[in-house]
Amino acid sequence: MHDLSSAPLETFLIGGVGTFGMNMMAVRTNTSTVLIDAGIGFTALRHYGINVRIPDLDTIRAEFGSFDALFLTHGHEDHIGATPFIWDLLDGPIYGTRLTLALVERRLMEHGIPINDRLIPTTVGSFVAIGDLKIELLPVTHSIPDSTAVVVHSPFGTLVHTGDFKFDQDYGADIDTTVSHLAKIGRNGVLAAFSDSTNASRPGRAGSELDLQPSLEHLCKTSTGRVFVTTFASSIRRIQLLISIAQDTGRTIVFLGRGIERNVEIAERLGYISIPPRLKQPLSTLNDPQTKNILCIVSGSQGEALAALARIASNKHSSVSIEPGDTVIFSARVIPGNELSINNVKNKLALLGARVFDNDLELVHVSGHGNQDDLLQMLSLLKPKYLIPIHGEFRDLKCHATLAEQTGIIPLLANNGDRICFENSKGWLGAPIPAKSTYFNDNLSTVIKEQTITQRRAMAKTGILVVICRINRTTRQIEEQPRLITRGVSTENINISCIDDLAEAIRMLLNSALIGRTDEPKALLEECMPDLQHLAKDHFGNAPVILPVLLEN
Ligand SMILES: [Zn+2]
Ligand SMILES: [Zn+2]
Repeated sequence: MHDLSSAPLETFLIGGVGTFGMNMMAVRTNTSTVLIDAGIGFTALRHYGINVRIPDLDTIRAEFGSFDALFLTHGHEDHIGATPFIWDLLDGPIYGTRLTLALVERRLMEHGIPINDRLIPTTVGSFVAIGDLKIELLPVTHSIPDSTAVVVHSPFGTLVHTGDFKFDQDYGADIDTTVSHLAKIGRNGVLAAFSDSTNASRPGRAGSELDLQPSLEHLCKTSTGRVFVTTFASSIRRIQLLISIAQDTGRTIVFLGRGIERNVEIAERLGYISIPPRLKQPLSTLNDPQTKNILCIVSGSQGEALAALARIASNKHSSVSIEPGDTVIFSARVIPGNELSINNVKNKLALLGARVFDNDLELVHVSGHGNQDDLLQMLSLLKPKYLIPIHGEFRDLKCHATLAEQTGIIPLLANNGDRICFENSKGWLGAPIPAKSTYFNDNLSTVIKEQTITQRRAMAKTGILVVICRINRTTRQIEEQPRLITRGVSTENINISCIDDLAEAIRMLLNSALIGRTDEPKALLEECMPDLQHLAKDHFGNAPVILPVLLEN
């Protein structure tokens, strides 16, 4: 139930709730509005050339106008990828840790955005004051270094956004720091926690990044050919682990894929990755299939058609071809919706003679997100009055809500677009804002409108029929038979006379509609469209998208 009354402290889950990606949340009081994270999400529309989406910019502009600041929890694309697109809505700086800001800086530069001095690194223990809000970032462990939670202190209560996290037991010192900071916040009272729900349905602990070492090392030692490992370009901890394993198993390392090369360069420059001298080799090393002692970290873990791994699997990569005996390891999470593409790439690699490994066969990936015990630990440290599960599909959010309820915390189960209001230590769901998306083409250069998506869907389903008619200006009749052009329409079972019949039927239909009409023929065409579609369906068996072209002579 939504309560339409407003409140002095409001949060808006603009994205990242109920579906994967597009993490974005706004916090608003009478004096200030800040944004936490600005991420992209994938779509199920890849087949139509649409791979990426962000929360709808028009909706954000209409509700908020602008933001006083953006706080970034960490450098993953589902948290920073939309920053270039909301840049114009930012009236103030972007705050984050060093690595996060370096990654977002590169993103902004790629879009030709002048950054000047608007990226402000924050350190643990320092507060940023924005209107009546005091905001601090606290360190958490995740699959990328420099990850943080965001604590928003307001006159109406303290809110904690956990960011993506798990309590990785192998990073003891980091965990101790995190625990002591979170416990202190918890002791001072937390009104609401907005917490990562990715693995809320999984019992126990998420496991440690270092748990992967034995199996990855074993695969590197036993492979007689080259080893290719695909992971996310932003999995900096995983990449560091693979560099160490390459060194320990006598392999050199090659980075393949623009995102991976770019992130490794940034992480190495800032000291988050260290690569021993001479271990890293150029891409050309892969040209010689006889050089076997290579560990290649390659992009394309989600089966993306344009990524290096998919091109290698299709034998279309200019520098690399798979040889029998090569090993390919999928060391990444399968993002919901990408299963078919990933499976396709795995099968193609196997067909070329590669040994293919994923988590079904060996322990080659652990999640960077906490399981139930991690989530319970977070709740026991923060002791919030309310939990708002975020960052998960809806059933994950529900599992997280159930966990919270069992510990006496009140869950507020929300969806994308929901407004959560707080006043006098009470929280409730307020009037939502529309939960729409803005879509982009594969390389993020062009916005794809809803109408375009609808048209692409329709054309993919049934094909297109172009009808070219000539109207005699004097008689206002179509005297020649219209010319019909089809693309993607199944015409295999139709003979030429049937197409001629359709053209003639269209001519008669339009001519009878033209009688007595003096208005623009284009308006008439719109009126005739349902009848045209019926005619086309009678002839083709289904109704293609019809594109009429009217010429006058
Ligand atoms: Zn993350
Ligand atoms: Zn995330």
